[in-house]
Amino acid sequence: MNFDAPITIALSKGRIFEQTLPLLAHAGIEAVDDPETSRKLILETNHPLIKLLIIRATDVPTYVQWGAADIGVAGKDVLIEHGGEGLYEPLDLQIARCRLMVAGAKEANLSGNQLRIATKYVTATRSHFAGKGQQVEIIKLYGSMELAPLVGLADLIVDLVESGNTLRANGLAPLEHIMDISSRLVVNKASWKMKHTTVIQLLDALREAVESRDQIEG
Ligand code: ATP
Ligand code: MG
Repeated sequence: MNFDAPITIALSKGRIFEQTLPLLAHAGIEAVDDPETSRKLILETNHPLIKLLIIRATDVPTYVQWGAADIGVAGKDVLIEHGGEGLYEPLDLQIARCRLMVAGAKEANLSGNQLRIATKYVTATRSHFAGKGQQVEIIKLYGSMELAPLVGLADLIVDLVESGNTLRANGLAPLEHIMDISSRLVVNKASWKMKHTTVIQLLDALREAVESRDQIEG
């Protein structure tokens, strides 16, 4: 790949980093350090112009919006809460897949008004219940949502569910599907213009990687 502009890519540690690496490899980009063992927050790659920033998942859209990173990988959940200002979202990478769901005790009533819902995903939750014409009270939490119904903080939670094991371990069940979630490539709007040929080359290589993996998975 013949990049002609410096590009900074913002990623979070864990599942997004692990699942983005093989896609980047398809574009000829390999990280020099492993963020799980290195404490560096800026990782060099085999390509002198390409750097990786390792940041919190929820901070990725902010870095890209302000141009501190040209490109980022962020979950659709994170993008909905951020609002997407200053970003293009040109590609669904189809990684870190899960579902945003309403969950609670198996016998919980889903349809009442004035239900209290605990969640990290306030915007998505508000629009889901507004779409059903239901008045709910939303309590913002930053993690361990499963605890809220167990101690009477909330009637229901809205959380990401992959296998449902965490819910089940706490005596809760998935009750209502809100949306499927996957991670998206986001691009700073100024970088899209100013570094267009490099951004498009990278985007095309990543799109090809996603599509060829789809064929393997069927
Ligand atoms: P932290 O775990 O550090 O509090 P986080 O939960 O935002 O931060 P990750 O757990 O790395 O970060 O999740 C990153 C993204 O991966 C989420 O924004 C979501 O899109 C997706 N994700 C989260 N949980 C799951 C899951 N159980 N299965 C698949 N994808 C998930
Ligand atoms: Mg997490």
